[in-house]
Amino acid sequence: MGKKEILEKFSADPERYYKVRLFEEKGFERKSCATCHRYFWTMDEKRTNCPDHSDDTYSFIGNPPTKKRFDYTQAWKEVESFFVKNGHTSVNRYPVVCRWRDDLYFTIASIVDFQRVMGSKVVFEFPANPLVVPQTCLRFKDLENVGVTGRHFSSFCMIGQHSIPNDHGYWKDQCIDLDYRLVTEQFGIDKNEVVFVEDVWEGGGSFGSSLEFFVKGVELGNAVFTEFQGDLSSYKTLDQKIIDMGAGLERFAWITMGTPTAYDCCFGPITGSLVQQAGIDANSELLVRYFTEIAKNLNRFVDLSEVRKNASKSAGISEEQIKKTIIPLEGIYLIVDHIRTLIFAISDGALPSNVGGGYNLRIMLRRIISTMDRLALKFDMNEIIDTQIDYLKNTYPELEKTRNDVKTIIEIESGRYENSKLRMQKIVSKLNQRPTVDDLIRLYESDGVTPDYLKEMNVISEIPATFYTKLSELHQSKKSEKQDHLPLEGLAETELLYYDKDPKEFDAKVLKSFDKYVVLDRTSFYARGGGQEPDHGKIAGFDVIDVNKHGNIVVHELKGGIPKEGETVLCIVDSKRREGITKHHTSTHILNSSSRNILGSWVWQHSAFKETDHARLDITHHSALTDEEVAKIEEMANAKVKENIPVTIQNFDRGTAEQKYGFRIYQGGIVPVKSVRIVSIKDFDIEACGGTHVKSTKDVELIKITRTKRIQDGVVRLEFVAGKTAQEYVKKHEAELTKASAEQTAKEQRDKLREERKEQAREKIPALLEQISQTSKGKVDEILVSSGKFYSTTDDQYDEYFHINFGEKLVKANPRAVYCGIFEERGTVRAIIHAGEEASKQNKASDIAQAVSLVLGGSGGGNPRFAQGGGPDKSKKDEAINKAKSMVLG
Ligand SMILES: [Zn+2]
Ligand SMILES: [Zn+2]
Repeated sequence: MGKKEILEKFSADPERYYKVRLFEEKGFERKSCATCHRYFWTMDEKRTNCPDHSDDTYSFIGNPPTKKRFDYTQAWKEVESFFVKNGHTSVNRYPVVCRWRDDLYFTIASIVDFQRVMGSKVVFEFPANPLVVPQTCLRFKDLENVGVTGRHFSSFCMIGQHSIPNDHGYWKDQCIDLDYRLVTEQFGIDKNEVVFVEDVWEGGGSFGSSLEFFVKGVELGNAVFTEFQGDLSSYKTLDQKIIDMGAGLERFAWITMGTPTAYDCCFGPITGSLVQQAGIDANSELLVRYFTEIAKNLNRFVDLSEVRKNASKSAGISEEQIKKTIIPLEGIYLIVDHIRTLIFAISDGALPSNVGGGYNLRIMLRRIISTMDRLALKFDMNEIIDTQIDYLKNTYPELEKTRNDVKTIIEIESGRYENSKLRMQKIVSKLNQRPTVDDLIRLYESDGVTPDYLKEMNVISEIPATFYTKLSELHQSKKSEKQDHLPLEGLAETELLYYDKDPKEFDAKVLKSFDKYVVLDRTSFYARGGGQEPDHGKIAGFDVIDVNKHGNIVVHELKGGIPKEGETVLCIVDSKRREGITKHHTSTHILNSSSRNILGSWVWQHSAFKETDHARLDITHHSALTDEEVAKIEEMANAKVKENIPVTIQNFDRGTAEQKYGFRIYQGGIVPVKSVRIVSIKDFDIEACGGTHVKSTKDVELIKITRTKRIQDGVVRLEFVAGKTAQEYVKKHEAELTKASAEQTAKEQRDKLREERKEQAREKIPALLEQISQTSKGKVDEILVSSGKFYSTTDDQYDEYFHINFGEKLVKANPRAVYCGIFEERGTVRAIIHAGEEASKQNKASDIAQAVSLVLGGSGGGNPRFAQGGGPDKSKKDEAINKAKSMVLG
């Protein structure tokens, strides 16, 4: 079903779909655009064209249609006070990281705030009705337009006006009435300027008519009336009709300010400050001309370079002015836009990385740096962050809390990029032709080379329009898990005993048994879920080896046989195993919050696994953990264990839980049911969790982190043990430590002795050589001298250092001599043989070493002048010497 067909159908019956009370009351006239034939509603008798095809398009630039001027912050105050005055509740923005939907990384529209997934269905849950919300939305599809078009942002504030038509809320008539009055009364825009264009909206299996409202060619908002489900050939009215009006706050500010671009009035004082720092001559008359033409040409051309070419031509802007003013300005707009998006995303817990949603954040930061490099702009990133947060906190005070965290992450990530530049340079130098879009994607995907870097390096002049769209599509959707299909139709949902009395022995009726599987009417066996491993035990005497939930039915897998359907069976849960698992589960919560406290607000649980004797917690963090960080996390966790804080479990309505505790509760992912089970360790850790937990933190006994590892970009794994296993681990570890320390001491002693002997040898060798040169037979200080040709010793006072150095000098002084030193080292006998230049012609040192080693029960080798060997037989030292002696002396 296409949008076009729905629009045709709806526009064929305007009375039913578009005519609202306001049009009737104020005398709006329905017209068809003289150019494109689209239908629109206006009070201006002379208007013949739709806003896209009117002459006054974007004529507010340099000439705003309002008396009052409102910047971004003030514009929201105006909108908010208008809707509150008219019975709406003003709701705080939801996080930009969409924790409550597993098909979206980021919040892309205000209505997403209130969508919750129930099975395969999306339902709406409103915390108030009607309501208005200043929702920051992130969208990465038009990145190449950001900074260039004057109106595209990577994140923007969507004014969300939402209502469910019932006793409290309203439907079309009142919605359009309010929107009209917002524009005309609150913002003071002339009623003849407001144009409503007929449109439709469809998505997620539902659709409805919509009215877009425009002033001077700029679309301020779109009121969608989500009404039907199905497709055009067969649809029905939704049980829950929804008013989904979304308007761009940036545009409301822009139209009242009439600045050349929306960027000039939506980022607070930072834009002006950077323009000044960069020394750009921002001649406003020239900019008004240029950006008005850009806005007009955007409707005419798809390709951005065409838009720019035509705009500069019709605005009469020279090449020189483009280079000196427009291009650096575009750079500044891009930088402030991208940093604002990073501030929101990082504050809400997202990290730049090479996976998932982190992808877009990394590419944005790299664009910022590349742009600064390309334009030789030397801005202080922290100053930009500070100025932006100072400005944004008027509307979003929560950003103050994460100010430093944002700076930390941006600094680390910038450093990483700088470090990768050398590698990127090499890759780029090997490119021998202009890269295609697919090449660009591959270059970024596999080598991290951004197109902005290629632009900076002059490899490409423009980033192709489709690059960011393609890239963001590649990383758009998360995978959803597939489940096996078991024959469970018609079975009643299993009563879960472990959430209540949790008996370890109970009777239950077999509702179904097949293959190796059993379904009971009730069970106390915990089914695998939320990273917690299943219980084991016995059902009717058979071993339970696995337990899984299929929808609301618990399926037990048995080994050795299965009971018959209809039987009542005795079930016994292995309570020891459960106890271990439970301790590890509560420990996971404690470690998660400890990690966040020690490392930073960006730490979220990425995933977790809890077994009876070990567990692991994967957290989002930018770098591998240092020993010091691990020690601190462990210390804090164990302090919480010692404090003996009660672990409480309470069920809440999902909306209430979110409002009360915020979205931090979703550490383990989304909760697909209306009632959430909140597990609290006072206010230290509060999570929505379906697992089993100890009564009080002391029950965990002890938590020991056994290993940590960076498992992917932006994710660190903590492996740990708790309870008995942790105690055992400490005992074993202590024994290992004692052993290691004894070994260390022994080694230190050996090293010391060796040093002393070395020192002695250095002093002794020259004196010994002197004495030996005067002796041809007998003994000199335990060294046997034979015929001035053979010298040997087995004395313990000499070590390897001595034999090597002494022997070398001896045979150098006496080329006819052979030296054989035998000594013990760490339980074996070693032999070192030197042969003088002359001597080696008859007796090679290597031959002697071989023969001597054979006597000692080992092996040896080397070259004719120097060889080594040895063996285990300590009783044969003298025999070995004699062997060598007889070889030399014959
Ligand atoms: Zn038109
Ligand atoms: Zn949990």
